[in-house]
Amino acid sequence: MTVHQDIPTIKVRNPRTGAFDYAFHPTSAEQLAETVRAARAAQPAWQALGVEGRIAVISDWKDELERAAPALIDAVTLDTGRLRESVLEAATVSRWIDRWAAAARVAYATQPQATSSPDILSIADFSPYPLVGIISPWNFPLSLSLTEAIPALISGCAVVVKPSEITPRFVAPLTETIARVPALAQVLKYLLGAGDLGEALIDSADMISFTGSTATGRKVAARAGGRFIPCFTELGGKDPAIVLEGADIDRATSAIATGANLATGQQCYSIERIYVHRSLHDEFVAQLVKKVQKIRLAFPTVQDGVIGPLTFAPQADIITRHLDDARTKGARVLTGGTIENLGGGLWIRPTVLTDVDHSMQIMREESFGPLMPVMAFDTLDQAVELANDTPYGLSGAVFGPEDQAIAVARRIDAGGISVNDAGIAPFFIADASAAEKTSFKCSGLGGSRLGPDSIKRFVRKRAVLVSRAKGASPWWFDV
Ligand code: NDP
Repeated sequence: MTVHQDIPTIKVRNPRTGAFDYAFHPTSAEQLAETVRAARAAQPAWQALGVEGRIAVISDWKDELERAAPALIDAVTLDTGRLRESVLEAATVSRWIDRWAAAARVAYATQPQATSSPDILSIADFSPYPLVGIISPWNFPLSLSLTEAIPALISGCAVVVKPSEITPRFVAPLTETIARVPALAQVLKYLLGAGDLGEALIDSADMISFTGSTATGRKVAARAGGRFIPCFTELGGKDPAIVLEGADIDRATSAIATGANLATGQQCYSIERIYVHRSLHDEFVAQLVKKVQKIRLAFPTVQDGVIGPLTFAPQADIITRHLDDARTKGARVLTGGTIENLGGGLWIRPTVLTDVDHSMQIMREESFGPLMPVMAFDTLDQAVELANDTPYGLSGAVFGPEDQAIAVARRIDAGGISVNDAGIAPFFIADASAAEKTSFKCSGLGGSRLGPDSIKRFVRKRAVLVSRAKGASPWWFDV
């Protein structure tokens, strides 16, 4: 692709050093148009390969991805400043390829079915959206750019991905793996740019899959709605954890210490609010503080611990605003609570707060950091009411005796609820045995990402109804 030197480069900040040490030329409108034209031209041949043919190509690509894993992990580590999750991202992509392939074989293998009318046969047929546009966020740059691309490709679509401008370094090594599989290179394209490129992609695609903030998701859905194309959005969250009377405190604190701090809390499925039965509150808080104080920053080297820096510097301002607001309104910070500048990066240690309530931003707005505000409750109804007192509905967690915890889980207005664990729904994407889940409220619109049938989001469904009647059909005019 020709680089348009007249478009200013976008500079990229290294989250560990604060230095702007990477830059790229954003894609121009002409380049987008040319890419879309080429992908559309290649899509019919891709579709014609059939499910098995496409799986064979994507399996070759999986081998390339595995060979390139060290380079991909290095790039994602530079993008995000953390190592553990970068390794996890690379491994997850390979796993998704296998799982979506298995799901596609089942979902798209259909047999003609008899209908309630004895002379009519029904044949399910699937027509992929020719061009799927994917817009992805910075927090898990590699895996979230592919979580929807893989099932879309296996379904027969061509895919154009616009990843976040904040974490673009993984795109170069990824594109090299794609180039080594020519049949795939025709139908899987990555284009670098900012929000304006995302908008232009919405204007060019037949379907949009968007992962990102609720604020941007609203704009994306409105623009896609204006074009009358489907738009799946997976957006922000403010996930609650409820710890019931009778819960295993040791288990709950360990699960929450991970579920709230993985990726430095920069994940949509992070536990961001904790409600604990009053009888367990003090012991819970004491154990949680003790455990999170053992979690080390990955500093000075990336191998040193598990908490990386804040990937996106402006996130530090949001976290600071939430902490300041909470402190002003009477919250107590028991551990953590300060943004630290270490080596040019912005860091925050796992932070536990008590004496919080729902007048505070920290209990209502997505913080996207390792903040664990803990609030006591007295009754189940009160716990459920507090958990549901949010515009979001992505996921949540309940700890306690299993039957009781499941009953509470059923009352939470969110799509992925972990019982006696935290934040586990994303580990089950494309898992053949996982139930479907949708986002509730402002956490998104559209079909499930979980459950094997969710692959059918990428196809239009055609019912072919075949009449084998010898005589007149009962609904005919008498002619
Ligand atoms: P944003 O919404 O800021 O950005 C997401 C993507 O949209 C980026 O590629 C961005 O480009 C692009 N974009 C920005 N403006 C527009 C526009 N007007 N039209 C089209 N595309 C646009 O999200 P973040 O990157 O900040 O990601 C963090 C958010 O994502 C959090 O709220 C988090 O909860 C959510 N998230 C949700 C997940 C889920 O599965 N539910 C998973 C992971 C994250 P650019 O960055 O280049 O500006």
